[in-house]
Amino acid sequence: MTKLLLGAHMSIAGGVSQALDRAATVHSNAVQVFTKNNRQWAGPPVNAADVARWQEQMPALGIAAAVSHASYLINLASPNDDLWEKSIAAHRDEIQRAHAYGIANVVLHPGAHTGAGVDTGIARIAAALNRIHAATPECAGTVTCLEIMAGQGSVLGRSLEELRAMIEQVAERSRVAVCLDTCHAFAAGYDIRSAAGYADFVAAIEREIGLETVRVWHLNDSKGALGSNVDRHTHIGDGEIGYDGFRWLLNDLRWAGTPMLLETPKEETLEEDAMNMGRLCALVEDAARVPDGLAVEVHASALP
Ligand SMILES: [Zn+2]
Ligand SMILES: [Zn+2]
Repeated sequence: MTKLLLGAHMSIAGGVSQALDRAATVHSNAVQVFTKNNRQWAGPPVNAADVARWQEQMPALGIAAAVSHASYLINLASPNDDLWEKSIAAHRDEIQRAHAYGIANVVLHPGAHTGAGVDTGIARIAAALNRIHAATPECAGTVTCLEIMAGQGSVLGRSLEELRAMIEQVAERSRVAVCLDTCHAFAAGYDIRSAAGYADFVAAIEREIGLETVRVWHLNDSKGALGSNVDRHTHIGDGEIGYDGFRWLLNDLRWAGTPMLLETPKEETLEEDAMNMGRLCALVEDAARVPDGLAVEVHASALP
């Protein structure tokens, strides 16, 4: 009887560790953070006092899993050498920051080839990761989780096959894994709405990368239609995926122990996070798997 690891991306306003407090206010036991401003290349040095607070607060607040998300500016697939070098430096910094906080999984958008072609772009990503890994042996326990993408433009990672091709070219296999985002996968063409469609998706995961390679799930409903390549997140049940896609996933015990994190629209009150977690928990068949504090208040608002 393992509890779901459920949470959301939380703001780090006031310090990275403040995200844990925000996670706890909505009764979640997992969280995703940026370890610095995600729209800037460089951040301030890691704040030792905040790291200490993080290490104290995480167990105190019952947050069992934390992952970080790398900056959106990073493009390890870039054919432009200046941008590529800048991206390598920035992702190395992301890994070192995560390591300082004891965060094992760093989610990364793989990148865009911007015209250089899929194979060239994938080779650039792997070469960049190989350089980063060689430069940070002290961070061997910190894993880059390449995120599946909706597939807009020249963005790479739109299929399990592309993610596998990246992984295959990484020398230190233990330092690379995958993050699956339901909105992105659906927009890229994976139809998880039916039980059969979900089963096909999981079979493809097993075949291409292995279930154990999936270290993080992002649970977002999709504004874009199946195969639209549109990356627009919406509230659980309000989008094109609908409740069923999440029902299969949440009740699939093969994902026990894998954090499931919302990246849905919200205000500072976090009301929408509570609503979406409530909706998700209402789909969980075994009530014992619902994180403490989440079950009761949720069910009423959760029904479709
Ligand atoms: Zn995502
Ligand atoms: Zn997205």
